[in-house]
Amino acid sequence: MVRKMGVYAVLAFCLYGLFIYWYLFHFANTSLPFEYQGSKADPSTFLNGRELDLSEEYSKIRNLLFFLSTPFEWLFYFLILLFGFSKAFKRWADQSAKVKALRMPIYLIWLSLFAFAATFPLNYISYSLSRTYHISTQTFASWMKDELIDFWINYGTWLIIVPVLYWLMKKSQKRWWLYGWLLSVPFTLFMMFLQPVVIDPLYNDFYPLKNKELETKILALAEKAHIPAQHVFEVNMADKTNALNAYVSGIGSNARIVLWDTTLNRLNDNQILFIMAHEICHYVEKHIYFGIAGYLLLSLLGLYLTYKIMNWTVRKWGKELKIDDVRDIRSLPLFFMILSLLLFLASPLTNLASRYEEKRADQYAIEMTKNPEAAISSFQELTRSGLSEVNPPLLVKIFRYTHPSMLDRISMLEEYEITHRNQQ
Ligand SMILES: [Zn+2]
Repeated sequence: MVRKMGVYAVLAFCLYGLFIYWYLFHFANTSLPFEYQGSKADPSTFLNGRELDLSEEYSKIRNLLFFLSTPFEWLFYFLILLFGFSKAFKRWADQSAKVKALRMPIYLIWLSLFAFAATFPLNYISYSLSRTYHISTQTFASWMKDELIDFWINYGTWLIIVPVLYWLMKKSQKRWWLYGWLLSVPFTLFMMFLQPVVIDPLYNDFYPLKNKELETKILALAEKAHIPAQHVFEVNMADKTNALNAYVSGIGSNARIVLWDTTLNRLNDNQILFIMAHEICHYVEKHIYFGIAGYLLLSLLGLYLTYKIMNWTVRKWGKELKIDDVRDIRSLPLFFMILSLLLFLASPLTNLASRYEEKRADQYAIEMTKNPEAAISSFQELTRSGLSEVNPPLLVKIFRYTHPSMLDRISMLEEYEITHRNQQ
């Protein structure tokens, strides 16, 4: 029975992979609708033939990797349970730790190591693909260092969460999801507060803007929106990527706008000011706080569903998955699997909310800078530098796109340009 279930799971994954491959490479039509051909959103007007081919190829493979990697995680956790690895990790932890308090950290390190090894090939393929297409400029050593930092931060975070979670399960079999959620509220806020000052600097260097002439212009724009100068940072990314980006992170006194140095180096001043104005909108309209509120609401529902699904699964398949009791640490891979599944299912909704905020930020930015030419050319440059696709397939948009497609973003700006020109 166990072997049969394993074979079915692997088969299901392969069939799903084939379906996604067929969808992305043969079914989905990413050519531009007729009415957009020749417009400023049409990539053939701003990319050369080689760039067009590369961006199409690169996007397709990236999308395929995206759609494979999350279900691969589910498969991994399922097989870890099915073939008794979780049971073995617990046995190894019990045997090697004389002190009871060390058993959970040891169980967790085994599970984390196996998960790291299993996901490493896909991660490596993704990295080397990015190198091949000259998006990533990161050396293998630097990439590996980031992978290891990821590993330890994840391990450290779960080391705080998992013992509390299983303690709550033992204390209250029916309400642990609620108490867990209540504790997650201050924990999430605390982590969001620390993120830009403790976690992000482990990966990259952050500093005030280097180009002082440009800094004066950027800070003048920030000042207009009442953003203190010390909340604007540059981050060193040129050693890692050719792509352009900027973002807002942190809460309270740690809230900040971060501009990648690649953006500052490769765009002209007016283009940079448009990007900056976009980030200013996220900052002043407090999109991060809405994001956290939405995430906390969804996680309450998510934890409740996890509780229900875990109990049901252990009742029905406990013998095959080698979990006698939900409250036993052996059920942790099941918890991770359900969490990952629910996050994936929720992503169309969270992406939709994010796309709404991004659209607002674009509108705010064009109203603030009133320079559609600079805005449009900055998006064209963003497309070129990341070899991104202007008009992604529907499923890609739904599951992957936290921003509107470049087709939507550039068309919106072009419309602004046309109405504005007529008004003059
Ligand atoms: Zn944005």
